[in-house]
Amino acid sequence: MVKRELKRRGARQVEDVRGSGTPVDLDVLQSLVTEMLLALGEKPGRNGLVRTPERVAKAFAFMTQGYQRDIDHLLNGALFPIEYDEMVIVKDIDFFSLCEHHLLPFYGKVHVGYLPNKKVVGLSKIPRIVDAFARRLQVQERLTVQIAETLKNKLNAHGVGVVVEARHFCMMMRGVEKQSTIAVTSSMLGAFRDQPQTRVEFLKLIRRGSVGDSD
Ligand SMILES: [Zn+2]
Repeated sequence: MVKRELKRRGARQVEDVRGSGTPVDLDVLQSLVTEMLLALGEKPGRNGLVRTPERVAKAFAFMTQGYQRDIDHLLNGALFPIEYDEMVIVKDIDFFSLCEHHLLPFYGKVHVGYLPNKKVVGLSKIPRIVDAFARRLQVQERLTVQIAETLKNKLNAHGVGVVVEARHFCMMMRGVEKQSTIAVTSSMLGAFRDQPQTRVEFLKLIRRGSVGDSD
């Protein structure tokens, strides 16, 4: 498992939790794609490419819509007081992101666990938090930490664990061309960092087969 010691801790605000709020400039994007096609030696006027700049601009606006997401707004009304203090796990959350080094996709699964501290979040909100951070230009390590720190801070949870498993097109299609390599990153906060048994329980639960599978 590729792990990275990340310097954070304390009450420091996570970088980039809120989107910039600046809307995507589709016209600029579109003309840049036309330039790109020309630079690649293509003819932007030919049949198949006529609407490509428009399509690419819209696709990138969609794939980076996380910048427009406000986490507080997203969680509004979705935090519930509760006495439950056992681990909550949401695993196998699909995500698609863009690596900020090559603007190529990386995609895979996110597994999230947390130990509630008198409040829980509606389960459907966790994949939406994942999307809010995945649909930006990202690196896998930062995506992992942003999800973990957001849950830790917003829920005031006793602990949070996040594991991200991903395939990167920039590794698969170019460079080392390792098609089956999966990069794994994790972020363990609070009890998940301090208590080995909590961390082990989390890792064991996310390794278990899916619901309905014979274990
Ligand atoms: Zn890359």
